[in-house]
Amino acid sequence: MIGYSGATLKPSNNYGVRSGCDAPDMVVLHYTAMETVEEALERLCSRDHEVSAHYLISASGEIFQLVAEDRRAWHAGVSYWAGQRDVNSRSIGIELDNNGCTPFPCPQSRALVVLCQDIFQRWSIPTWRIVAHSDVAIGRKIDPGPKFDWRGLAKENIGSWPLRGQAALGIDEAQFLEDAAIYGYETTLGLKLVLAAFRLHFRPMAQGPLDPIDCALAHGLAGHLPLTHLTEPLNRIERGGLDGRGPQGSRKVRTPQSNSAG
Ligand SMILES: [Zn+2]
Repeated sequence: MIGYSGATLKPSNNYGVRSGCDAPDMVVLHYTAMETVEEALERLCSRDHEVSAHYLISASGEIFQLVAEDRRAWHAGVSYWAGQRDVNSRSIGIELDNNGCTPFPCPQSRALVVLCQDIFQRWSIPTWRIVAHSDVAIGRKIDPGPKFDWRGLAKENIGSWPLRGQAALGIDEAQFLEDAAIYGYETTLGLKLVLAAFRLHFRPMAQGPLDPIDCALAHGLAGHLPLTHLTEPLNRIERGGLDGRGPQGSRKVRTPQSNSAG
C-alpha cells in the first residue's frame, strides 16, 4: 500500500480511483467524533458506512493506514477548495481519534507532524496546503474543531499561519472575501459562513461581526501564499470571487510536480 512506512495497515473497503488528477496535492484534517479508535476503525473500514480516510491517528499516536495514498478515500464529501469541488480526488484525508470535546494529546500531535512531513516530502505538496474539513465543507462540517492547534502545527512549518500587522485595513468586507477566496474558501456562500469557517481555523475564540483583526489576518494569509498557488492573473481571481460568479473556473490550483511516492 503506497503510504507512510511507519503505519499499521488496516485496509478499508471504502475507496475509489482519483478523478482528474494523478496525485494528491493537499491534506484535509478531521476528527472522528467517536469515543474510541476501535469504533472509528470499524466504521471507516466497513462496507456498511460509505466513509473512509487514508489515515487515522490514535490518541496515543499510533498511525493506521486504511486507504493507499494513490486511491481516492471518502472523507470530504460535498466540498470546495481553491477552485476544486472534488476535494477527495485531490487530497489525503487524515482522521484524528477525538470525540470533538477533548484536547488533542501531544503524542497524537507529534505523530501528525511526522506523517504530514512524510506526505509533503513524498508527493512534493507545498507545506501550506493542509486544511480543515470545516474549511472545505463550509456550513456543513466543523472538524477538527476549535480545540485543534493550527498555530502549533504551523510552528512545525505545516499549514499557513497569517501574520498580523501587514496591513491596517480597518473593516473591509469585500477585501476580506477577496483574501479568503485567494486562500481557497468558497466565498460565494457569503460573509457569514466564510467568516465562521475562517475563525474556526484561525481565531476560534472570536465572536461578533467581521472586525479589523479578521481583515488583517485574512490579508496577511493571502499575501503569504506563494504565487505558484495561482495560474492566472490576480485581478481576474478577485473579480471572480466577488461578482457572484465565484472563483471556480477563473482560478486553478497548479498541478502536482511529482507523482512519485517512493
Ligand atoms: Zn470530517
